Amino acid sequence: MKFKALFSIALLFISSCAFAADKLPHVVILATGGTIAGSAPSNTQTTGYKAGAIGVDALIQAVPELSKIARVDGEQIANVGSNNLTSDIILKLSQRVNELLARDDVDGVVITHGTDTLDETPYFLNLTVKSNKPVVFTGAMRPATAISADGPMNLLQAVTVAADPDAKGRGVMVVFNDRIGAARYMTKTNATTIDTFKAPEQGYLGVIVGGEPHFETRVEKIHTLGSVFDVRNVKALPKVVIIYGYQDDPEYMYDAAIEHHADGIIYAGMGAGSVSKRSEAGIKKAEKAGIIVVRASRTGAGIVSPDSDQPGLVSDSLNPAKARILLMTALTETRNPQLIQRYFQTY
Ligand code: ASP
Repeated sequence: MKFKALFSIALLFISSCAFAADKLPHVVILATGGTIAGSAPSNTQTTGYKAGAIGVDALIQAVPELSKIARVDGEQIANVGSNNLTSDIILKLSQRVNELLARDDVDGVVITHGTDTLDETPYFLNLTVKSNKPVVFTGAMRPATAISADGPMNLLQAVTVAADPDAKGRGVMVVFNDRIGAARYMTKTNATTIDTFKAPEQGYLGVIVGGEPHFETRVEKIHTLGSVFDVRNVKALPKVVIIYGYQDDPEYMYDAAIEHHADGIIYAGMGAGSVSKRSEAGIKKAEKAGIIVVRASRTGAGIVSPDSDQPGLVSDSLNPAKARILLMTALTETRNPQLIQRYFQTY
């Protein structure tokens, strides 16, 4: 009798634990590689290691605490340094995220990613994900094998944000080093330190303290569900190249873009996107060849506004890398320069 009672209490306890776990949000982790999945021969080596060496299951297993926050599943999309990600891979990633978020049983998505282009892919998804469920990118500056690797805490915090109902409708986010930032603005500001992800002019959306996300602001620019872009059935992204502006910059870079059939050019201009005589001639030649050219600023901040004395469209406050993402996305919809210029003011 006594044994029977004990047995039923144990059963009740086990089933209530299973019920509690069942009620946790379901977050899918999509891994693409990067330093967060990096491995070095020694635990003090933080340069010259191999990025994208560890698979998604090992990343999840390294953080058992994830199971207290969410039911997590992992999928490997790629396993490369983000310097080797391509338009095809980020298109596939966006399409997979759209498929996952369309399911009732998925509450949010986390994407692990190299930091080198962690200003590009999140912004692409910010423009092309058709859901208000949280999409959170994270990465690491120290490989998984380093003393005090930052990846496990960044992953835990990213899943915490993706599982938080308050994170809905804020656009795609980058969670890094206790900060929550908007994909529209976050950028890598330091080549080596772990506090590298910042939005220098606009600041963060919030912070994570004691394991809890605290949101402070929202982004004004249109994103995700509000965006006109839909790449769910797009087969390949248009080709957009970046040409850097500097004293004595040559015109032949534009000839190369024309020869290689670029659809668009971002001119990473001096100051507020100003052009030299030679780049002005190059831009005009490219425009004649049907290429859309957008002037951005190489300074890293500030707005490039329309100027009737200068050729090309303007990027507003998007840095050249993000401007390239918007132009590629816009060109899937239209080649109308006025409309594309409006997109640069909207997104
Ligand atoms: N090269 C690496 C990458 O972007 C750097 C990193 O993840 O920190 O994948």
